[in-house]
Amino acid sequence: MPQGLYSLPVVPVRGRRRVAERSHQLFETIPLAGSYITHMRIRLALLLSLLLIASTIANTSDLALTGAKVYTSPTEPPIENGSILIHDGRIFSLGPSSTSKVPGAARVIDCKGLVVTAGFWNNHVHIFTPALLQVPDSGANKLDQELETMFNKWGFTTVFDLSSALDNTLALRRRIESGELRGPRILTVGEPIWTIEPVYVRDFLEQNHIRITHTETPEQAIALVRDHAAKGANGIKLFTGSYQGQGKVAVMPVAVAKAAVEEAHRCQMPVFAHPQNVDGVNVAIASGVDVLAHTVPQSPPWTSEFVARLQSANMGLIPTLTLFDFEARKGKESDTERQAWLAQMVEELRAYSQADGDVLFGTDIGYTNHYDTTLEFTLMSQAGMSFQQILAALTTNPARKFREADSTGRIAKGMNADLVVLSTDPAQDVRAFADVRYTIRNGNIIYVRPSPSSWQ
Ligand SMILES: [Zn+2]
Repeated sequence: MPQGLYSLPVVPVRGRRRVAERSHQLFETIPLAGSYITHMRIRLALLLSLLLIASTIANTSDLALTGAKVYTSPTEPPIENGSILIHDGRIFSLGPSSTSKVPGAARVIDCKGLVVTAGFWNNHVHIFTPALLQVPDSGANKLDQELETMFNKWGFTTVFDLSSALDNTLALRRRIESGELRGPRILTVGEPIWTIEPVYVRDFLEQNHIRITHTETPEQAIALVRDHAAKGANGIKLFTGSYQGQGKVAVMPVAVAKAAVEEAHRCQMPVFAHPQNVDGVNVAIASGVDVLAHTVPQSPPWTSEFVARLQSANMGLIPTLTLFDFEARKGKESDTERQAWLAQMVEELRAYSQADGDVLFGTDIGYTNHYDTTLEFTLMSQAGMSFQQILAALTTNPARKFREADSTGRIAKGMNADLVVLSTDPAQDVRAFADVRYTIRNGNIIYVRPSPSSWQ
């Protein structure tokens, strides 16, 4: 796997690792001599093991998606009747079905009438739901169920966790990467850097006995970044603006933000900021932050000058529009107020997107329980984004931003086999991006929509 500026974990091929482990056990436990019955038992066990290994290889290594409409990237015209062959977790070949040869041992998914895109990124999630809070003490079924509900069924093959308890999130990642759980690749910032926590998470943190320190000096910020980098975090999150209630925002001193960003970049990690208001955005720009984790609720309309400042700072923007609908409903705002608030956020996204700003898809799930992505796609479309622009926000934009465009974000020979199979065509209606039939990560099917038997 090509190493980018931001070092992200190398994902093992699940099936191969399992096969290796089984083979190892087999050789360790067979006795060298014994009775005829013992020999027969051993031969039977050997035969069964070999059959198991063979079926594992066929299932996990070779997969063929045939007859699909394939969007290889947001900018290329689709292949109307295309087939994709996957071997060893990567795209082995793709092209028109008429010229593609499917190996006999491959598992074939007939995708006639279906649409295939690269796997989706959700660049703003939290490993903070009740079911995921105690990973070391939780059974696989419970965790699998939550991963499916939150991520797999919406097509996410990579998620960026933008604040959680780092040790717990790393434990979840390890269990997914070992093959025990079915889930996306998890990138994480672990505990965020804040001078003071925002008011809306205070009760949650207290109830769950989660302590996140207040960072008041550049030295403390540098220490936290180094600690996180050593443990395996993939980014850093700053609350450059932290909401304190009644319109008040605690703004991070630029010196603290700058120290954190410089150290994070030295450790090859991108930096995200929760801005909250324009002062929070200004600190993010002044300190060299890479991505705004939200549009900005406490902000005048975005002028072309404001947008140009963000762009010249090479700032990515995660809209999280669904969050504002969620917050307005939680705060029992009237429908009129909720819609006005949403319209303001949609306009910020429109200004950034129309100026060709870098938009990264993200919904803040794990803080919200609104896992369904339909509303986010609808609002992005209302902001004037075309289906190609939304597909770019889901795939190529994060791949480029996080220095992984050589291995992920597009469907091409040699790329990671992270794919989404949709029931309908997002070119006709962007809500189709939420209509996921299969999610495939590294060539392994991690989600199949429950369906009549005729589908498979
Ligand atoms: Zn969040």
